[in-house]
Amino acid sequence: MKNPTPRGYCSATPKILVVGSIAFDTIKTPFGKKKEILGGSATYFSYAASLFTPVHLLGVVGSDFPAAQIEKFRKRRIDTSGIQVRSGKTFRWCGRYEKNLKEAKTVSCALNVMDKYSPELPEHYRNSQYIFLANIDPEIQLKTLKQVNSPKLVVCDTMNHWVKTKLPELKKLLKKVDILLLNDEEARLLTGQENLISACRKIIRWGPKTAIIKKGEHGVILTTGKNDFFFTPAFPTTGVSDPTGAGDSFGGGFTGYIAATNDSSAANMHKALIYGAVVASFTVEDFGLKALEKIGISNVEQRVNQIKKMIQI
Ligand code: AMP
Repeated sequence: MKNPTPRGYCSATPKILVVGSIAFDTIKTPFGKKKEILGGSATYFSYAASLFTPVHLLGVVGSDFPAAQIEKFRKRRIDTSGIQVRSGKTFRWCGRYEKNLKEAKTVSCALNVMDKYSPELPEHYRNSQYIFLANIDPEIQLKTLKQVNSPKLVVCDTMNHWVKTKLPELKKLLKKVDILLLNDEEARLLTGQENLISACRKIIRWGPKTAIIKKGEHGVILTTGKNDFFFTPAFPTTGVSDPTGAGDSFGGGFTGYIAATNDSSAANMHKALIYGAVVASFTVEDFGLKALEKIGISNVEQRVNQIKKMIQI
């Protein structure tokens, strides 16, 4: 299925900027093993968000990165002029999932060209309005943010690794972001709170105006820390084969919808959560980016309508 240009969604100039990893992943799940397939937090995000609106992609790859893949990004309305190509190898990540597919165990991780990467934004990236700081070293996330002129909305993701190794840098970054997006285990580790409502409140005290906690198949919580908790379910799919990239695709669907509608009101954010959940539901149904490559916005809309029916009371 081709990726249509959806009416009412598309805009010619990218409003979204994403920084994060561009990787080759080796993934083992109970349903199979794939070696050195395209992955990375910024890659998943870009594929997901570009279903809604063009994206400026910022990251680094090695000289082993195929030119044909750069061309594939461009065909999906993903601007690649912010990708640095450095001599050396592209970032590699190897992960394994147990039967319950809940959490990835990192088997190995080689930063390669991502080590000492310092982001430099092309001039035309600097006026991006919606910023997604995908999972990468918080110092790189901070350096990126410093080069953006006056963003409307800054959304940030991270992972356990950075909570354990770069907590002071992460806390400094949190003061500058509008929304922090985490999964339940990351939220517990970051805040030391077992209860997710308490975890949300603690996150809000550190800077973000909004906290979003993803609970895998059990859906998502969004709050601004007062008494405005909003919950959405995950799309009920049974065909999960590889959860890699679910969080980044959720971020892409969520931020992509907000940027395309140019509306970051609370009511629109609630709708955007459903788009995030739906895009992530496609990602997990196949390995790597395979499922996202096949769908268009009409497939997304179909599942959004199904979720809307599910939550009608
Ligand atoms: P997710 O499953 O949404 O949390 O993201 C999975 C992606 O994160 C994989 O494609 C990996 O390449 C990438 N990844 C894993 N570890 C790191 C890391 N330390 N820094 C940046 N990206 C990473």
